[in-house]
Amino acid sequence: MEEAEPDQRGREVVQPAVNLPAALFTDQYGRRHRSLRISIIDKCQLRCTYCMPAQGLPWLPPAKLLRVAEISRLARIAHAGGVRDFRITGGEPLIRRDVCEIVREIATLGTAEDPIDLALTTNAVLLDKFAKDLKDAGLSRINVSLDTLRPERFKKLTLRDQLGRVFAGLASAKEVGLFPIKLNTLLMPGVNEDEILDLVDYARREGFELRFIEQMPLGNNPWNGSTIITQVEILEKIAEKHVLTEVPGRGSAPAATWYVDGGPQKIGVIASVTRPFCGGCDRLRLTADGMLRTCLFSDRETDLVTPLRSGASDLEIAQLMGLAVHEKEPGHLIGKAGFKLPKRGMSAIGG
Ligand code: SF4
Repeated sequence: MEEAEPDQRGREVVQPAVNLPAALFTDQYGRRHRSLRISIIDKCQLRCTYCMPAQGLPWLPPAKLLRVAEISRLARIAHAGGVRDFRITGGEPLIRRDVCEIVREIATLGTAEDPIDLALTTNAVLLDKFAKDLKDAGLSRINVSLDTLRPERFKKLTLRDQLGRVFAGLASAKEVGLFPIKLNTLLMPGVNEDEILDLVDYARREGFELRFIEQMPLGNNPWNGSTIITQVEILEKIAEKHVLTEVPGRGSAPAATWYVDGGPQKIGVIASVTRPFCGGCDRLRLTADGMLRTCLFSDRETDLVTPLRSGASDLEIAQLMGLAVHEKEPGHLIGKAGFKLPKRGMSAIGG
């Protein structure tokens, strides 16, 4: 086991798991992967109709879920391979009681000289209970999924009357200083596109960074590419009331962003369907049952949990990850011949 040494802030920093060549997480198209999304559970307490059926899904049994030490070890190996952005997702990650322990473990990977970005995506229903502990554990920022500001519509969309809890969670996150707070809003035709301007105003009032998401063929929704609300339509709607100025230097970020009325407020659009951004993709995903996915829409998965639980070394696991990354597909095939719906739904991949 590696010796832990205190960094300048006196926090214990575990030495890198293994020294890895920087190119290990670079794929055959030259994309270097610096971002790892870690799904820590597939379960969720909401029933968003576009994500899962009302009765829920056959959840992973607890024994199949990666344990805190296993998540920590895989994060350390990824860090040694150059990953600096970590995002904790679900299902709903706050359902796992040890979520703060997981945050604390991953947070030790960052130092003042070589920081990491550690974020968490949540539906915020339990956030008012966890916000302070997450912040104390080392969480930097938070993404909250919020598709409507209307209680009745929220209840219809999620089959739960919990919008008040979401607002309470957002208020707690703000209070404890998680920043920035990003809102992810999935726009669905005939469902919530009439709230675009309300959501922009709400985000401005609260100081949140709002991102609209084009609906993708994932999960429990009868997707039809010709009916989605596109980036062009979203920007046209916002431009009815606001001046938008594109923010330069997007890098590998999924969202393109615009200043609203000269800023500082920004809005973003994640336009996976009409403006795919696979060419700059630097994201890897780890599922709650220990499979490495190199793409949201790929069905190719690399089993890391079996070698992890049968004594493989950090280097052996890193090599498995490196091989998977190297073979990563160029991008999704949405709307093209050969597109296949992934076997796993969004709740089991973790967005
Ligand atoms: S669809 Fe796959 S390759 Fe494209 S941006 Fe998403 S994860 Fe990356």
